[in-house]
Amino acid sequence: MGKVYLIGAGPGDPDLLTVKALRLLQNASVVLHDSLVSREVLALIPHEVELIDVGKRAGQKLLTQDEINALLVSYAGRGKNVIRLKGGDPLIFGRAGEEIEALRNAGVNFEVVPGITAALGAAAAAGISLTDRRAASQLEIATFSRGADASSMNWAAVTNSSTLVLYMPGADYAEVARQMRDAGLADDLPCVIVSNATTPRQQIRRTSVAALAQQEKLPAPALLIVGRVTAHHVDEIAEAYWPARGSLESGSQSARSEISNSQRPTSPTSISPTKIS
Ligand code: SAH
Repeated sequence: MGKVYLIGAGPGDPDLLTVKALRLLQNASVVLHDSLVSREVLALIPHEVELIDVGKRAGQKLLTQDEINALLVSYAGRGKNVIRLKGGDPLIFGRAGEEIEALRNAGVNFEVVPGITAALGAAAAAGISLTDRRAASQLEIATFSRGADASSMNWAAVTNSSTLVLYMPGADYAEVARQMRDAGLADDLPCVIVSNATTPRQQIRRTSVAALAQQEKLPAPALLIVGRVTAHHVDEIAEAYWPARGSLESGSQSARSEISNSQRPTSPTSISPTKIS
């Protein structure tokens, strides 16, 4: 019986692969990969390794999840060391849960090798400290692309002192902006769109909740980082959105975490869009 390695390929830059991932890829017999895995990473896999693209192409699924699960089990049953290679980290919006269940049910040995998830690649690319102590008390990794049920995204948990990383935001930025405004996020709360983070195709756009609707669409894969931490001058914007904020050294941490959704300021006055773009 072989073994299945669920490996994170990272956000794109092959230098961001773990040493373990690279070693396993170079010694694999078969690699099943998603379309999200960058061509630069795929180029590191030796030619003699069998490469199977199980991902989506232009919205068309090449293989169903059940078919992928069955392939993993069947290759492992033939004694092969199988690599299931996924973009970013396998455990973040990567459907690894379904594959792990199938492998467990079939009694197949497996190991997860983490990768750098897109949120971290994008934050690094844009120079954003996701949990900057001056401006954020929580980091939320979320999507509302869970089928037709957009309400599965818990917007109530997102406040002006959150950093929200929205995976799979889709191409309808106006709809994303509408949901953020409905959730009570301030119009000039800054946000950043990062497309193809850490690859030669990378693009970064700084915008705001209100201006997002008019933004030019960037190619997939792209994600959105929303929150005060995305401002170039976090200190200025932290003051504007956080009136109760004292100096960080004077132990204001608890006071800050008590600011609730209902106290969320909606119209900060001292921030102009030009300051944050
Ligand atoms: N397992 C992956 C996420 C898969 S969901 C991870 O941990 O990163 C696919 C979504 O991830 C895309 O729609 C996009 O929102 C995001 N994504 C993946 N790679 C990206 C990249 N290089 N740049 C920007 N966003 C990326």
